Amino acid sequence: KTAPEKFTFQAEIKKLLDLLSHSLYQNREIAIRELISNASDALDKYRFLSLTDESLKDEQPLEIRLEPDKENRVLAICDNGVGMTHDELIENIGTIAHSGSLDFLKNAQGNEKEEVSLIGKFGVGFYSAFMLADKVEVLTRSCREEKGWKWESDGSGDFTIEPQEDIGRGTSIRLHLRKDLDEYTQDTRLKYILNKYSTFVPYPIKLGDELVNDQKPIWIEPKTQLTQEQYDGFYQYLAHNGEESARWHLHLSSDSPFQFHAILYCPQTNLELMGFGRTEHGISLCAKRILVQNDNRDLLPEYLRFLYGLVDSADLPLNISRESLQDNTVFRKIKKVLTKRVLSHLASMAKDDEEKYLEFYRQFGSSLREGIGTDFENRDTLAKLLRFPSSRGTSENELVSLEAYLEKADENQKQIYYLGGNDFHTISRNPNLEIFRKKGIEVFYLPDPMDEIVLSNLAKFEDFDIVSIDSAEVKLPGDEKAETDSEEKEDEKKEEQEALTPEFEKVLSLFQEELKDDVESVTKSDRLTDSPCCLVMPEGAISSQLQKVLSMNNK
Ligand code: ADP
Ligand code: MG
Repeated sequence: KTAPEKFTFQAEIKKLLDLLSHSLYQNREIAIRELISNASDALDKYRFLSLTDESLKDEQPLEIRLEPDKENRVLAICDNGVGMTHDELIENIGTIAHSGSLDFLKNAQGNEKEEVSLIGKFGVGFYSAFMLADKVEVLTRSCREEKGWKWESDGSGDFTIEPQEDIGRGTSIRLHLRKDLDEYTQDTRLKYILNKYSTFVPYPIKLGDELVNDQKPIWIEPKTQLTQEQYDGFYQYLAHNGEESARWHLHLSSDSPFQFHAILYCPQTNLELMGFGRTEHGISLCAKRILVQNDNRDLLPEYLRFLYGLVDSADLPLNISRESLQDNTVFRKIKKVLTKRVLSHLASMAKDDEEKYLEFYRQFGSSLREGIGTDFENRDTLAKLLRFPSSRGTSENELVSLEAYLEKADENQKQIYYLGGNDFHTISRNPNLEIFRKKGIEVFYLPDPMDEIVLSNLAKFEDFDIVSIDSAEVKLPGDEKAETDSEEKEDEKKEEQEALTPEFEKVLSLFQEELKDDVESVTKSDRLTDSPCCLVMPEGAISSQLQKVLSMNNK
């Protein structure tokens, strides 16, 4: 028997191994995820090769096995995937730091504490085995070879390789567990970890003889093959919020220009409305069915944070930091597509089933309103999804869209009108409304100050300026009409008004004198019909209701 060949790790890997040996307790379970994900990759590769190379095919079912050996404190993670040749062993685990490890090293340049806490975020691939083990053996046989190999290292600087007899296709990673880590041979602990990270691995994972991941990756199935029960089950798994089923879900798949599958769920209730604070659950992000992150907050815009879901893309690298994810092109494109699809889903719901949409809107309308201020790309789409109470309704529960408002607008109308106030009925008694009522012009009533902020922020909808009717910017459709009236009529009106002017001047200056400390100016108005006077805001000023809200917030 010849002596094993001896090799030295690449300098970067040495540094990595040194960091890993100091890693925090709660990071260690990530090693299992990494090794399972490598096993799953190896099975993917084998399956792919055997598709094109008949000679590789056999009857063995593809699977991953965890074999704990309590007595010897060894945990083996085994697969019957592609395996590695002698040269592949050297190249893959020894000389080159792979993507995840490299990302980690690039970022881990601060103090040791920081470096150690980064491990959890990155996942450093195969080398994470050394967080659990002080000796690692890799027994492997490539699917293209008859002979197997044993790779071995204590993680301190070198590794050895020697031939290995009697070994099946694939790879077994044997972890000789560190002294204090006996728990990694306990079924309950292992099941907990598998449940947390690997439920959706597409190959059976067996612990002894027991199958531990019965959850199918339903998101890669075609929609038509799935039942409501399956969608519900997956929702319950993701949301853990006690709801039996979601309000609605969206199942998306795409092959080009990039590949991804996604299921998004809208919950029944908006916990933020119930005073639970900000929802922070995030989206599960998978790369080829392996969970990369279970609380990703960058795959959807902030304002859609109420959605639960999972996104799986083969085009995303598995070991990638949050920071580099945001810069990843595929990632940004997926986010764009998801956002558009969610909004178009809502738009068609609003069109097909207004009542269903309004029920959604009452729960999550605040999120769409938030989007108006932040998502400029989708502003027009979002604006169409907004709903407000209006003078056409009898209470604040009857909501109208901007489009429906315009359908009923006066043909000469150039503006969209709204008025804020404490509540629907107080608003409806505001004297500013008299002329609108007389002319039959609809006005949005906005008891919710958030609505008023949104509309003044939106400022325009399809060429119509959106104005508060207590502002001096208001132009009434009738005013415009007057300009186009016949000159004769116009002159008549003018004369009549001029005759009255001195009278008005007297009254106005009287008021002006009396109120000089309280108002900017007193002017004559054509807007009033029954009330003798009303308060309006000077041009460019924020509405009186908003002023109230702002001064409340400043206290
Ligand atoms: P990554 O998975 O990001 O490539 P890892 O450090 O996890 O990086 O793994 C390094 C390489 O080692 C893999 O790319 C693969 O070629 C090889 N490898 C690791 N585990 C296995 C395995 N179970 N079967 C076959 N090859 C493996
Ligand atoms: Mg890996």
